[in-house]
Amino acid sequence: MEWRDIIVIGAGAAGMMCAATAGQRGRSVLVLEAAKAPGEKIRISGGGRCNFTNLHTAPDRFLSANPSFCISALRRYRPQDVIAWVEAAGIAWHEKTLGQLFCDGSAQQIVDLLLDKMRRAKAQLRLSTTVEAVRLAAAGGFEVTAGGAQIRCQALVVATGGKSIPKMGATGFAYDLARQFGVPLVEPRPGLVPLTFEAGLLERTALLSGVSTPVRVSAGKAAFDEALLFTHRGLSGPAILQVSSYWREGQPVTVDLAPGADVLAELKAEKSVRGRQAAVGVLARWLPRRLASFHEAYPAVRLSVTIGNTRQVEANVLDGTADLGLVEGRTESDILRRTKVDVDRLMLVVAASHPEIVEIAPGRPDIRGLRWIIREGGSGTREVLEDLARREGISLADLQIFLVLPSNEAVRQAVEAGAGATIISDLVVGRAVAEGSLRSVPLELPKRDFAMITHRDRQASLAQMALKAHLGASSDHGRAD
Ligand SMILES: Cc1cc2nc3c(=O)[nH]c(=O)nc-3n(C[C@H](O)[C@H](O)[C@H](O)COP(=O)(O)OP(=O)(O)OC[C@H]3O[C@@H](n4cnc5c(N)ncnc54)[C@H](O)[C@@H]3O)c2cc1C
Repeated sequence: MEWRDIIVIGAGAAGMMCAATAGQRGRSVLVLEAAKAPGEKIRISGGGRCNFTNLHTAPDRFLSANPSFCISALRRYRPQDVIAWVEAAGIAWHEKTLGQLFCDGSAQQIVDLLLDKMRRAKAQLRLSTTVEAVRLAAAGGFEVTAGGAQIRCQALVVATGGKSIPKMGATGFAYDLARQFGVPLVEPRPGLVPLTFEAGLLERTALLSGVSTPVRVSAGKAAFDEALLFTHRGLSGPAILQVSSYWREGQPVTVDLAPGADVLAELKAEKSVRGRQAAVGVLARWLPRRLASFHEAYPAVRLSVTIGNTRQVEANVLDGTADLGLVEGRTESDILRRTKVDVDRLMLVVAASHPEIVEIAPGRPDIRGLRWIIREGGSGTREVLEDLARREGISLADLQIFLVLPSNEAVRQAVEAGAGATIISDLVVGRAVAEGSLRSVPLELPKRDFAMITHRDRQASLAQMALKAHLGASSDHGRAD
């Protein structure tokens, strides 16, 4: 039967470190890992950059039924030791906040570092091998059943991790084993986890999803001053992850969204949402009513609105000229966070007196045969026409573009005067179609979202959060026209 001094079950951070250290001490080591790759949780840690140590690591930061348990380990292996190891491997890092150190590059660098340490220590790794059973061997040591084979060892290390993220191989294996060997257990419960909301509360906060802001959050006697993140399921961010380890069911979690500040005074003094941008066009119709009701709800908040097309709005949010923007069209930067605020229906219209339109097939008008009146480049409605042309296997250059106009109002008037056809929002032409001065041509067009865009890495002010929530709430209240 195969034999090793030590078998380690699980090639996560703990198992790999343990295997490398034991190997360095001259033991023969075999690591058995159920997954196809080692260190999968490390790979996703720290948002993919692995928060590999903390400068302020201290025993009182660890939760344990035996608070002294970690003291000797932390004395013998300090954050400085981790930093020296990481630096020796040439891995660049930075301090994010509160002593948290992250890789500049990818968390995979830490996985590779651990694998290299194991290789040097001649510790062997066997992937895709699930340990099914463990029993005491008659001759001493343990007998492990894995992948149908029996392997014996003198010492067994169970490093199969906690129960979080079953998709990444987490199981209750260690707890079952503890029960089998009569090791007393502290009942496990989630820690360092996000909080989820029930449906009613979620509905009220859904539009804040993606907003991050510094808070003080407390549960019982524990309180943390860090960032909070609204998510599509509830709350997350470092402050929430921290407090989740202390919270117990039925206990309130208190979030101070403006720690140490008098919110009303602050709203009165500083409150403004700078250079909030609205794209020219349908948003200009959608927006005023919502801004008026926002002003009623928050009279102390000063809003400064600038108009531009989608491309300009995107640029201004990116360079910080605007705190947030509202756009009709596609945005390109992945540094922007997009949140849908409403849906716009588009239609193909011509003047009531326009001759019958030739159809290539039912519901497929011959767009090459039409004379078009369109908006300038960078506008959302123009993009829809470009997409339609692409769908027909042609480009905008293949169409007869008769007029390019800078506003939807101008486009509507030109079409009403019989100058040609356009694709435009029903917010702009709905009334004219109803009154009969324009005719809507049957054509299936995609619905278009109005989106709010904010910079992913900038934290929202209270005024911005209020505005974001308000626009979301307004979006259910029907159309502005
Ligand atoms: C989203 C997220 C972000 C995180 N960010 C950070 C961070 O930035 N910094 C930080 O310090 N910590 C972070 N953590 C926590 C950290 O990732 C974990 O505490 C750590 O990776 C746990 O390591 P482990 O070796 O104990 O367990 P795991 O990584 O879970 O490893 C256990 C291994 O055992 C294997 N296994 C289980 N059962 C068997 C079996 N029967 N046979 C064979 N193999 C088995 C599993 O496949 C798994 O590979 C984060 C965690 C999550 C979920």
